Amino acid sequence: MVKEDDTYVIRGPPPLHPLLDISLGRLMYDSFLTNPNKHEALVDAITGESISYPKLLELTCSLAESLRKSGYGINTVVSVSSENNIQFFIPVIASLFIGATVAPVNHNYTDHETVHSLTICQPKVVFCSKAVTEKFVNLKNTKLDFIEKIIVIDSDEAVYGAETMDEFVRTTLKGYNPLRRFQLAEFDNSKHIALIMCSSGTTGLPKGVMQTHSNMMVRYMHSIDPRYVRQEDNFLGILPFFHGYGLTTNFFALAMGQKIIVIKRFQEELFLRTVQNFRISNLWLAPPLIVLLAKSPLVAKYDLSCVKEVTSGAAPLSKDTEETVKRRLNVRTIRQGYGLTEATLAVIMMSLNDEKPGSSGKVVSYMSCKVRDPETGKSLGPGKVGELCFKGLMVTPGYYRNQEATRDSFTTDGWLLTGDLAYYDKEGYFYVVDRLKELIKYKGFQVAPAELESIILNHPKVQDVGVVGLPNEEAGELPLAYVVKKENVNMTEKEIINFLAEKVSSQKRLRGGVVFVPSIPKNPSGKILRRELRKMLTTYKSKL
Ligand code: AMP
Repeated sequence: MVKEDDTYVIRGPPPLHPLLDISLGRLMYDSFLTNPNKHEALVDAITGESISYPKLLELTCSLAESLRKSGYGINTVVSVSSENNIQFFIPVIASLFIGATVAPVNHNYTDHETVHSLTICQPKVVFCSKAVTEKFVNLKNTKLDFIEKIIVIDSDEAVYGAETMDEFVRTTLKGYNPLRRFQLAEFDNSKHIALIMCSSGTTGLPKGVMQTHSNMMVRYMHSIDPRYVRQEDNFLGILPFFHGYGLTTNFFALAMGQKIIVIKRFQEELFLRTVQNFRISNLWLAPPLIVLLAKSPLVAKYDLSCVKEVTSGAAPLSKDTEETVKRRLNVRTIRQGYGLTEATLAVIMMSLNDEKPGSSGKVVSYMSCKVRDPETGKSLGPGKVGELCFKGLMVTPGYYRNQEATRDSFTTDGWLLTGDLAYYDKEGYFYVVDRLKELIKYKGFQVAPAELESIILNHPKVQDVGVVGLPNEEAGELPLAYVVKKENVNMTEKEIINFLAEKVSSQKRLRGGVVFVPSIPKNPSGKILRRELRKMLTTYKSKL
C-alpha cells in the first residue's frame, strides 16, 4: 500500500495580486470596454483583413445575445472547430459571456476522431469554419443528433445548409442592439466549467479536461505578472487556437488589448516574414518551430532583430537547440515552460531574466509541486527523479463525465499525477527527463497510443499491437507500431500505415514506421509493458 508523503513540497512564489474572482466573460467584457486601444484586435497575416476592438465587443455581445435568445446559456456546451482565423475567438468569447462551456475541437480531426471528441462533450451548437462545415453537417445528419445548430464563422453565405454567424445574429436579434443593456452570466467561478479541452492524460483514449473560470483566471494573473510575461503590442497567433497553449496565450493577449497577427496555416516564409514585418518581440512557440529557427537557411533572409524573447512549451527542447537559437537570433535566453492541459498549461516556468540551460524553470505562483516516487508514494528531495505532481488553483476538477479517469489521475490525497518524470536542483529549477505515461508527442500534438492500437487491432491481419514514440529531433517523437501478424498471413508495413492513415489526422500517422514482432510484452493482467517496448526501440534504431 502506497503511503503518500509531503516531506518535500515545492511551492511557487507568493502571487503579486490575489486571484481575481471574476468570470472570463467579465474579464474580457471589461477589458474591451476600458481598452484604450482602438486598434485592431486580430489581423490576418496574409490578407490584412482585421477586426478592431470596438468591433470585437459588438460582435461578441451580439452573438452572445443571439445564443441567449435561442435558449442557450450556462448549461450549454458549445464546440468551436476551425483553423486559426480572425473569427475564432468571437464564438469563444460570446459563449463565455453567457456562461456556456466551450469545447474546442481540432479542425483536422477525421470523422472518427471528431465523433469521439463530440460524443464526450455533446455540444448543442458547433461553430466551425467553412473549410470543415461539410464534415460537421454530415456528422449531425448521421451520427451526432445532439447537435442542434451548426454556425459558420468565416463565411458570408450559407455553407452546406449551415447558416453564417452574421445571419444567425441578424435573424435572432432583428435589429435589437444588445450593447445597450448587455448582461453577463453569473455563477461560482471556482466551479463553473469554462472550457473542455482534449487530452488523453496518463493513459487510454482522449478525454475532456474541465477547466473552470478560476483555473483560467490564474493564467491571466500570470499574464499580468511581470515576472512571467512582458507586455507587448503585437502577438503572433501561430500556435493552434484549439490547443490549450495556443488558446490561452492568444485569449489573454486579447484580454490585454494586444494586436494578434493570425497565421492561418503554417508556412515557413510567412512565419518569418510576419515576425519581421510586425516587429514581434516575444515569441511563444513549440519546439518544432524553435528547431526551425535553429536550422532553416531561410532565417538568414529576414531581419529578426525585433525578437527579444522566445518561450518554448508543450514538449521538451534540447539544450543544443536552445544554444543555437540564442546565438542565431542574438537573444539572451530561450526560456522553457512545462505544463499540461490537466493543470491549465504552464505550471513550471522560467521567469523573465532568469536562466538555467536545459531547465523548464521553477514552480509558478498559486501552485505547489512534488516529485513523487511512483512505487512508494514518497516525496523526493533535490536531484532525485520521480513523477511530477501538482496541487493548486490551476489543477482541473477532472475529466468531463469520467469519474474513473479522474480518480486515477489523482493521488488519494489530491495531487494531480502528470505521468512526467523530472527532478529539481537545490535552487528549485526543474528538469523534465522522461515520460512515465504512454502519451506520444508529435510536434507538440498529443498522440494517444491506446487510440492507435484500438484502430490497428481492427485490421483483419493483425493479432496484436503496441504503439510507442520513436525519438526524433525535429518532431520530438514519431508514432511507431510494433505489430504481431496473424498466423500465415502476408502483410507489409505500408498496409498498416495506410490503414491507419485513413482513420486518423496527420499528427497520428505512423511516421516512425511499423516493426513486425512475434509478441508484445505484457504484464500478467494483459497490460502492455511500454517501457519494454521503448527499450526495443534502441535495437530498432541501431538497425536503421
Ligand atoms: P498537453 O496537455 O497537450 O499540453 O501535453 C502535456 C505534456 O506535454 C506534458 O505532460 C509533458 O509530457 C509534455 N511537455 C509539456 N511541456 C514540456 C516541457 N517543457 N518539457 C518536457 N515535456 C513537456
